[in-house]
Amino acid sequence: MGGNRIQVDAFNRVSDHEGVYVLGDAAAMITPETPRGYPMMAPVAIQQGQQLAANLIRNQKGQSWKPFKYLDKGTMATIGRNRAVVNFWGQTFHGIVAWLMWMFVHIMYLVGFRNKVATLMGWVYNYLTYDRALRLIIRPFARSKSTKVYHEV
Ligand SMILES: Cc1cc2nc3c(=O)[nH]c(=O)nc-3n(C[C@H](O)[C@H](O)[C@H](O)COP(=O)(O)OP(=O)(O)OC[C@H]3O[C@@H](n4cnc5c(N)ncnc54)[C@H](O)[C@@H]3O)c2cc1C
Repeated sequence: MGGNRIQVDAFNRVSDHEGVYVLGDAAAMITPETPRGYPMMAPVAIQQGQQLAANLIRNQKGQSWKPFKYLDKGTMATIGRNRAVVNFWGQTFHGIVAWLMWMFVHIMYLVGFRNKVATLMGWVYNYLTYDRALRLIIRPFARSKSTKVYHEV
């Protein structure tokens, strides 16, 4: 499949491979409603995991499986310091309100109290110190004529 994804059915099963399941970014769930699969997003991965776990429990109880149906809870994106856009329940929020909502939702979805506190403290530190998570240090390089090896100038 495109994007190196593995095709699965509506139950996250890989055809011709009994007992093999793929979900989240690695899965391309091709159904009549989703001919190109679901987008590679965290809510899809979370919901597919929950659905598959529920189906495996149903299997143990001898019950029939339920196909996956994505529940769109809305969209949110942070676009800078104190800025975000949130769209859910037909409402759109901007600015610092949306930014706080973005942080709250992301903290709540982290597993475990310790992770939540550690992440929140990291964000507060970064906010107060203007620290950046990603730094790229790129220095000029030149090709050596004799050895044809790249080395630092
Ligand atoms: C920069 C960036 C920003 C994003 N922003 C958003 C966003 O704002 N909203 C959103 O919904 N989605 C966002 N996404 C997409 C989201 O992160 C993914 O859709 C989601 O994490 C998919 O979950 P997953 O469980 O399928 O895969 P992953 O979260 O990638 O988990 C796969 C795990 O498997 C581990 N793994 C890999 N190979 C092996 C191996 N051989 N053995 C053992 N473990 C292995 C990896 O280390 C990883 O922990 C973003 C992605 C990126 C890269």
